[in-house]
Amino acid sequence: MIQVLPPEEARKIAAGEVIDRPAALVREFLDNAIDAGGEQIEVLIEEGGGRRTEVIDDGAGMNKDDLGLCWLTHATSKIRSLDDLAQAETLGFRGEALAAAAAVARLEILTSTDGREAWQLEVGPGKTEPRIEQARRNRGTSVRALGLFDTIPVRKRFLKREGTEAILCRQAFIDKALAFPERSFRFTQDGKLKTWLPAAKSLKERFIQCLLDSMEGNFLHEIHGAGPGFSVTLVTGGPELYRNDRRQQYVFANRRRIQDYGLLQALEYGVQGWFPNGVHPVGAVYVEIDPSLADFNIHPAKREVRFADPGVIHHLITQTLREFTRHDSARRMEENSHTTEINYENIDTIFNNPGNSNPGYGDRHAGALALEALLDQKPAFAPLPGRGSTEPARSPDRSFAVAEASPQYGGIRLVGRVFELFILVESGDKLFIIDQHAAHERILYDAFLSKPIPKQELLVPIPFSTASADEDRFLSSHRTELANLGLIIEEDEGGWRIAALPANWKLGDAETVREILELRTAGENMAERWAETLSCHAAVKDGDYLDDTGALALAKEALSLPQPRCPHGRPVWTTLTQENLYRAVRRL
Ligand code: ADP
Ligand code: MG
Repeated sequence: MIQVLPPEEARKIAAGEVIDRPAALVREFLDNAIDAGGEQIEVLIEEGGGRRTEVIDDGAGMNKDDLGLCWLTHATSKIRSLDDLAQAETLGFRGEALAAAAAVARLEILTSTDGREAWQLEVGPGKTEPRIEQARRNRGTSVRALGLFDTIPVRKRFLKREGTEAILCRQAFIDKALAFPERSFRFTQDGKLKTWLPAAKSLKERFIQCLLDSMEGNFLHEIHGAGPGFSVTLVTGGPELYRNDRRQQYVFANRRRIQDYGLLQALEYGVQGWFPNGVHPVGAVYVEIDPSLADFNIHPAKREVRFADPGVIHHLITQTLREFTRHDSARRMEENSHTTEINYENIDTIFNNPGNSNPGYGDRHAGALALEALLDQKPAFAPLPGRGSTEPARSPDRSFAVAEASPQYGGIRLVGRVFELFILVESGDKLFIIDQHAAHERILYDAFLSKPIPKQELLVPIPFSTASADEDRFLSSHRTELANLGLIIEEDEGGWRIAALPANWKLGDAETVREILELRTAGENMAERWAETLSCHAAVKDGDYLDDTGALALAKEALSLPQPRCPHGRPVWTTLTQENLYRAVRRL
């Protein structure tokens, strides 16, 4: 038998989608406080928010008539019709939150538009006629929800422990505070002030207030970029500030926190190479976009956004970060090789503390650090497989042709090799110390990007299957792009097969498939990503032995690279001058 649910019951079900836990009340009430223009905003929770969740603001307030309407479903002052939706610049616009809250908790709202006249409203589950009374209050609004889910035991059972709910409430609070640095926020839990965030001057400053200690704050950067109809602000930790997971990464679109894996990925790409391998930056991506170029109305809690053209945003983020990190790395390299300023006093401490190397920052002298780095050089990245092999390297595939076997080659002289990684050459008054893997990687990378990648048809194709429809879509819609990268992928009885790979491909089948499917996440940067993969695998490794001719040829190319950084951004070489060494032994 079909029954139409009584409106009261229907409301409870709908409300569950918007208000599923105290943190949702925090989020919705904060949205309203921000939309009302509140400058000083306060959140109070008791017993994980279940007993009481209240948000107090000093914003525009409501007059008596609006107060009487605000708790009704689809009552909103923010849009008039569906057409306004596309242009809405407020956080709220559906007029659902207060109604949903009133369906699942007792709601008390106290408000004033001018600080002279104030009104209080009380509604709650089962009440159709709210009570409105005169009250006293400064300009602004307090919205308080009491006894969440007291009348709906099923929902109450889904709540977690109080402590956990409190953490989620604070997270919802931080999500808002991070996006509105110019406003001041306070968070009080069970009568104790837990977090106080005075108005901050920038997104970066607010990020530090919320998530970092003051020491870490020194290593945070704020970078800006703009594209058609949108702009981005990127807040990211530098190489000194990273985490092993992605928990401190945030994405905001028009100041709403959203879950957008693609944009986080863009952040990670942009800083690749600036960081040690395998770690993640701390940071936030803020996108400000013309509302007509994005749809915010696809998720009940507005946690997702559909951008008209996500690729352009992705690309801008990566490029902006790459440019920034390139400059930053160049600056660091410059600082580290500032050879004329060696401070003799510090040299003793270097010899006494050879293991205490921390190049990049600290209060020791940059010149001393350069020397220290040389004396105590460790590979800055995890050793690649194949390290330690003593066989002479096979002449690398797209290698530099070596015409002369003479040790004198283009004005540089081969001095030798150290630590199974570095090639040492002398030129003029300088000693160049070249990372053979990074150098070769860069040379190959530039070559892969400048010419079509030669293919090699496989005698026996490699069959494979995908894990998702997404992957299938990717493979069938990118055939041409993949072919340009030296990859022929064909459909094969319900699965797929690789019919051709780039010439001299060296990876095993499983890894090959993984690398190809990974391209899916590269978006616009597919060619760069592929060139990175190819060059990394084809380049000579740490531990590979290059003969004199090969080493010299590689050194020469490395020293004439327009951008002497590996595709991940690490410097390809560093130098020591004659003067540097003379001073180090106090000859001057
Ligand atoms: P929405 O935010 O989508 O409009 P809500 O149910 O959250 O829907 O709020 C309904 C209306 O109540 C808002 O449009 C606004 O006019 C009013 N309101 C709610 N909270 C506040 C507040 N803190 N200050 C002023 N007005 C408010
Ligand atoms: Mg709202």
